[in-house]
Amino acid sequence: MRKPIIVGNWKMNKTPSEAEAFMKEMDAYLTGEEAADYGIGAPYVDLDVCVRNAKHLIVAAENCNEKDSGAYTGEVSVPMLKEVGITYCIIGHSERRTYYNETDAACAAKCKRLFADNIVPILCIGETEAEYDAGKTNDVIKSQLAGSLAGLTAEEVGAMVIAYEPIWAIGTGKSADETTAENCCKLVRDTVKDLYDEATAEAVRIQYGGSVKPTNIKSYMACPDIDGALIGGASLKVDSFKEIVDATK
Ligand code: 13P
Repeated sequence: MRKPIIVGNWKMNKTPSEAEAFMKEMDAYLTGEEAADYGIGAPYVDLDVCVRNAKHLIVAAENCNEKDSGAYTGEVSVPMLKEVGITYCIIGHSERRTYYNETDAACAAKCKRLFADNIVPILCIGETEAEYDAGKTNDVIKSQLAGSLAGLTAEEVGAMVIAYEPIWAIGTGKSADETTAENCCKLVRDTVKDLYDEATAEAVRIQYGGSVKPTNIKSYMACPDIDGALIGGASLKVDSFKEIVDATK
């Protein structure tokens, strides 16, 4: 049985004091006995305060560098995240792929490096609106997965989280309907099966992301191949995240 995993992605939002206030209230709302894992992906400077205030919440970084140290101004390494107490890291979000030219190969290198320190990658994939309109969704999913999982073992892939986030649904309020989301998440699982094996495909946790809200999360979670959600805007307010927890616990 796959344990559902619901993670907020704050993106470039919240100062450390704002992050602290959110974490204190949100973590106190959880008991640790919930049937799902709940977590927050936060900017680098918020991570320490988030970890210090998280008894039940997972704290995820939003990126990392695959090198351990060196002359890479502005970058943050996996050993740095490890020492802060980070256990998950979002990799290859479409905003990083689009604005910072992050490639599938870079995603694969980052995932590999994270596993060396037992940090679980949340690998994001998904097609643009133009690709969707051109009927290329399946090809994009398959090729992003083949590239971004390159060099990872079956054991590693089985332990990771893959977030299918169609770019046209991110921040637009235009969420994918359940059938589309389920079909694409099933394709992710089938592709993992083709690249690895059935046990790995059954183990990997797959999230849907893109305009997930307290009002629609239940219908996604009812889909057999959707094991959770990656949530942007609706994770920024404690009340909204509490409603998401209420709808899924
Ligand atoms: P929204 O939930 O704001 O659409 O963002 C989705 C997302 O990008 C999560 O990573």
